[in-house]
Amino acid sequence: MNDPLGGSLLPPEEHVLSTLEADGRRRWLKPRLSKGSYWRKRRVVAYALFAVWTVLPFVRIGDMPAILLDVPARRFTIFGFTFLPTDTVLLALALLGLLLGFFMLTALFGRVWCGWACPQTVYMEFLFRPIERLFEGTTGRGGAPRKPVSAPRIVGKYVVSFLACLYVANTFLAYFVGIDRLGAWIVAGPFAHPVAFLVVAAVTGLMMFDFMYFREQMCILTCPYGRLQSVLLDRDSLIVAYDRKRGEPRGKASLKVLGQAGDCVDCLRCVTTCPTGIDIRDGLQMECIHCTQCIDACDDVMRRLGRAPRLIRYSSQARDEGRGRRLLRARTVIYPVLLTGVLSAFFYVLSGKTDVQTTVLRNPGSPFTVTEANGVRNVFQVKMVNRAAKPRTVEIRIALPDEARIAAGHDRVVIEGGRTISAPVTVEFPGAAWPGHPVPVVFEVRDASTGEVLGKDEVRFLGPVGRVSKEAKVP
Ligand code: SF4
Ligand code: SF4
Repeated sequence: MNDPLGGSLLPPEEHVLSTLEADGRRRWLKPRLSKGSYWRKRRVVAYALFAVWTVLPFVRIGDMPAILLDVPARRFTIFGFTFLPTDTVLLALALLGLLLGFFMLTALFGRVWCGWACPQTVYMEFLFRPIERLFEGTTGRGGAPRKPVSAPRIVGKYVVSFLACLYVANTFLAYFVGIDRLGAWIVAGPFAHPVAFLVVAAVTGLMMFDFMYFREQMCILTCPYGRLQSVLLDRDSLIVAYDRKRGEPRGKASLKVLGQAGDCVDCLRCVTTCPTGIDIRDGLQMECIHCTQCIDACDDVMRRLGRAPRLIRYSSQARDEGRGRRLLRARTVIYPVLLTGVLSAFFYVLSGKTDVQTTVLRNPGSPFTVTEANGVRNVFQVKMVNRAAKPRTVEIRIALPDEARIAAGHDRVVIEGGRTISAPVTVEFPGAAWPGHPVPVVFEVRDASTGEVLGKDEVRFLGPVGRVSKEAKVP
């Protein structure tokens, strides 16, 4: 190749990246399906996950959905307990625990999450790829389909994929808006809830973009977890690897008989089946999502040749270097220790949380009033959030000081599971007992039938400075 300055440049490699041609075009992948023992196991896992993800939004614990991530209301209900915006410590601990869990999982089992349980892989490989194969046929040895695909088949593929995206998008949304609200949106139609319709349309559009166009680029370019692999894996982590000692030098099957070649016959089946387009024989690569398709493909080749399977197999870099795989090492000790600490802190903080989060706020307007009988009154709003799934009938009480009493307002209310209620309450201090300066008042919210204290809050009670009189001043 000539360059403009008259020198010569090295020709570019065939593929700059696994999905990028030398001239900058995207290299479209049509991975060949390899049905082997791992694929069958992954299919069972995938169908189980489809079922769980679809059913979970319908599951209720008491009055609440099992999982509801209500972002606008900043309330997150997870298996019967509602987390509120004030639970920042809990949220931080939960996220830290999740991160450490992922770090530990990766140190032990490599990218098992990516290959077996990530929704991107599971939906792509076990829903959208089968739809594509149904309409376009299988891809033989990889690359383009064997025959040009007719227009009706392409239309059919997009129509069915669109319906599948609609299903995935609605499943996804159900976790954020709840199945009841989503059902109401669907029944009422787009004109009754145009904003909701636009949300559903946008999420469906994003799903179409992802599963029809972006595909493996999500794992290769976008996913932060994928990009962290080089620091999360160590030499003892479980990886999918090619047995170089056994496979090299590559060559025809007949050369093996002459002792001039290893077990790899360079058939490229492991490459054409790879959903990210890499050649696992080049070693561990960031693009590898550990989907095990190359293991199944190579096992099939080995079986046909009458050779032992697992030329590509689950292994570790340490094992491939001739050392045994160590289970006990710095990161498999440090991560569990940290995780135990974080989870202990999480459950400790959680155990201190009351079932009914109670916040008492002063009513706007006059800070106090003096009654005809010289009693001093303050009006408060008692805001109660029932974190639990079941409804609660609660009583509002003044725990301290003894002289204060509820003069008017709601002292007994029913709060549905996961709901918030605000009750106006007027508290009165008898004039004779008024100390002449602001005093703290403790509100208690008790279960009406058992008397158990479910929540409490303290607020300052305001009144006149000195003795009570009609001309009392605001302190
Ligand atoms: S499938 Fe197996 S034999 Fe064929 S190229 Fe890959 S490693 Fe070699
Ligand atoms: S190299 Fe093998 S395990 Fe890795 S993504 Fe490709 S087919 Fe899956």
